[in-house]
Amino acid sequence: MKTSKLSADQKPDKPARRKRKILPRLRRRKKPSNHVGLKPGEGWHKRNFLAEVVWPSLFERRTGERRAPEFPDLADGQVSLTWIGHASFLLQSPGFNLLIDPNWSRWLKVIKRLREPGLELNALPDIDAVLVTHAHFDHLDRRTLRKIAAEQPIVVPRNVGGLVQDLGFARTHELDVWESVQLGPVRVTMTPAHHWGARMLADSHRGFGGYLIEAGGRTIFHCGDSAYFPGFAEIGKRLPVDVALMPIGAYDNPSKREVHMTPEDALRAFVELGAGTFVPMHYGTFQLSYEPAWEPPSRLIECAGAQGLLDRVCFLREGEPRVF
Ligand SMILES: [Zn+2]
Repeated sequence: MKTSKLSADQKPDKPARRKRKILPRLRRRKKPSNHVGLKPGEGWHKRNFLAEVVWPSLFERRTGERRAPEFPDLADGQVSLTWIGHASFLLQSPGFNLLIDPNWSRWLKVIKRLREPGLELNALPDIDAVLVTHAHFDHLDRRTLRKIAAEQPIVVPRNVGGLVQDLGFARTHELDVWESVQLGPVRVTMTPAHHWGARMLADSHRGFGGYLIEAGGRTIFHCGDSAYFPGFAEIGKRLPVDVALMPIGAYDNPSKREVHMTPEDALRAFVELGAGTFVPMHYGTFQLSYEPAWEPPSRLIECAGAQGLLDRVCFLREGEPRVF
């Protein structure tokens, strides 16, 4: 069959090329400088995290104990902190009980919990509010949150509310950095961090941070997860911090990205915050990186001792309340 070529002006009009639709969350957009990208750091592939850390930890005995609940009587101006393990704390001030990053799970997917939570979940007092610092599985544990939810409010970073809305909380407050919310007698302000917020891969639109918590005349800072960055001085300028809950573990992480602090970094951040007492966290419970579980606290003791700050460091035992 003979086909005849059409000249340019005879060609039918091409339909206008359809614009490709890209999901807003996948669209490349400029991230703030403290948002760490997903690209692994140099040399990340040289070690095998599953073989070196995850597999051997399956055979490790879980240690620690769930203690009998003990909730001190608090005078005005006092707060009590009970470490549950990892980044989870119960913060009590007279007439108000707050949980931060509660996680009672025995497993993070394939990663075994190596220390018992300090208290039974059902031994908790009535919880008036819950704070979650970011959507990572070790901080936002949907199973634990579902058990705690009893029509109280929950506070999460921007774009994380969708992960907790169906769990039974009365109200979800989403905060941007430096935004505050008043929860009864307690005021909560979200603080910046050098980290990232995606729970999976494509949801990098989720916010992340830490919290300044003003309760009963005291200010507690929960750092969330963060690498060292110069923002700690600014956080300390906003409010004088009495007690800083600082992460000291998971620095030798498999992706080799700068997303967590070494004990030395955390001590520097504490000094720049101008905080009164350093309470270490985020070590020993879940093995998330290559450094052995004993290393973060011993490095902290060493560097705090060398700088004359050891009397400001307060190690908590899981389940044992401490009044500040
Ligand atoms: Zn994290």
